[in-house]
Amino acid sequence: MSPAKLRVAICGGGVGGLTCAVALSRSKDIQVDVYEAANEYAEIGAGIGVWPRAWKVLCDLGLAGDLSKAAMVPPDNEPKVAFDFRKGDQSDGIDFYTLVTPGGMIAFHRADFHRVLLNHLSPRCRTYTKKRLVSYQQVAGQSPNLITLQFQDGTSASCDVLVGADGVKSATRRKFVEELASIARARGRSTDAQKLSDLGPPRWSGTIAYRAIIDAERLRSLLPKHRVLNNPMVYFGANSQLTVYPIARGSKINFAAMRAQYDREYTTFDQPWVQDVPVQDLLSEFDQWEPEVQALFKCINKVNRWAIHTTLPLPSFVSGHVALLGDAAHAMMPYQGAGAGQAIEDAFVLASLLTDPRTTLTTLDRALRAYDTVRRPFAQHVQNVSREAGLLYTLNQPGLTFDRPARPEAPADAKKLEEISSRIRRNWEWAWTTTIDSDLQRALRILDEHPGRNGWSCVTG
Ligand SMILES: Cc1cc2nc3c(=O)[nH]c(=O)nc-3n(C[C@H](O)[C@H](O)[C@H](O)COP(=O)(O)OP(=O)(O)OC[C@H]3O[C@@H](n4cnc5c(N)ncnc54)[C@H](O)[C@@H]3O)c2cc1C
Repeated sequence: MSPAKLRVAICGGGVGGLTCAVALSRSKDIQVDVYEAANEYAEIGAGIGVWPRAWKVLCDLGLAGDLSKAAMVPPDNEPKVAFDFRKGDQSDGIDFYTLVTPGGMIAFHRADFHRVLLNHLSPRCRTYTKKRLVSYQQVAGQSPNLITLQFQDGTSASCDVLVGADGVKSATRRKFVEELASIARARGRSTDAQKLSDLGPPRWSGTIAYRAIIDAERLRSLLPKHRVLNNPMVYFGANSQLTVYPIARGSKINFAAMRAQYDREYTTFDQPWVQDVPVQDLLSEFDQWEPEVQALFKCINKVNRWAIHTTLPLPSFVSGHVALLGDAAHAMMPYQGAGAGQAIEDAFVLASLLTDPRTTLTTLDRALRAYDTVRRPFAQHVQNVSREAGLLYTLNQPGLTFDRPARPEAPADAKKLEEISSRIRRNWEWAWTTTIDSDLQRALRILDEHPGRNGWSCVTG
């Protein structure tokens, strides 16, 4: 067997890492090693929604057949209700907008989704568990041992390219920003170095998510015509919001309730980020909400509380031969159901560039530059509009708040609800009006460009 043209190590076997591994392991020229910190490759028992851009990637990777079997509704491109929006924080809730999009949002149980990714990994791809990356070193020009990885268990490994797909608490990102900062420092730019160092740690968004899975039969027995049994729903309210949608072919309902305190955004959350809490905690936060929301609460046996953390925008997703993807690169608010989809898109574009015949150890810088050029602006845009969506959903946008229960027949209230509706649609249009294909073509065209005076290196600082 001829030696691989590139040895790629992927740190983290979540949605982004596994998608990257599936995409890379289609090429016999690439050796792929996935290092996962947990004892097994697994996902939490919650829902996940993807939009047409990411769905197209999953189709291109040959996953559509297996994923369609697990989807709530077999995906197609027909107009579908993506979400019904309702103002739910008053005794008589108000239906105010139905978002219809081509194909709608395609919803899965996370465990089903993860299983399909794992089943599609090529046997050539080597996977490891209990390998928590603590740091890495890269020494320019020292191939084949260009990058050395250190794990918590005292072992080490080496690779030509390191993909940091280790989520919002990414150890790769921590080292990555240190690297960028030390380059800036070496160039005498100590203020920039400090700013870069500050980009490392994730920040608390000021928002808590309560997550649960509801048994659909139980809800049906309580309220047979509950609208979430058929349609994905978003319930709005002052400083709070609920996203609920059917998963697992309609047998379960994914439930996420948000409590936002924007005055605490980017402060430190000093308790465990994820914790089981009594259902009573949730009930007391939402006791003024309408009866159909209360019906959801009555069906919850177990709820956990997540402190939602995000990351600040980086000046590059690439440093030397290390590339960040997914939450490690751009952890975002979950209000557009987009974080996993963006990780999938990163993984696909990066893998397509690395597997392209024009990419070799010698031209690696160019491929990584193309990844950063195409993916960073897009993912950071989605990160921004996801935050904006949160401000809208929790009625925190200036001029779009209510100091008493809203009445759709009151012109001022109707006008606000209309404005909220049009902003929801406008902010979210990227998900169905743009395609991953054109971005990928743009990235691949960069592989034909010539390096400028300073070469292709993405080391910024
Ligand atoms: C309430 C909520 C709802 C959401 N809903 C949606 C949705 O509907 N649609 C959507 O697209 N997104 C959604 N998201 C966002 C989505 O879950 C994330 O963006 C996505 O999981 C990121 O994928 P990832 O692969 O980058 O990271 P992760 O899925 O977090 O995977 C990271 C992996 O790396 C491993 N790891 C961590 N540290 C190390 C280390 N040092 N060494 C080795 N391995 C390590 C972890 O164990 C994990 O397996 C939601 C998020 C929340 C909080």
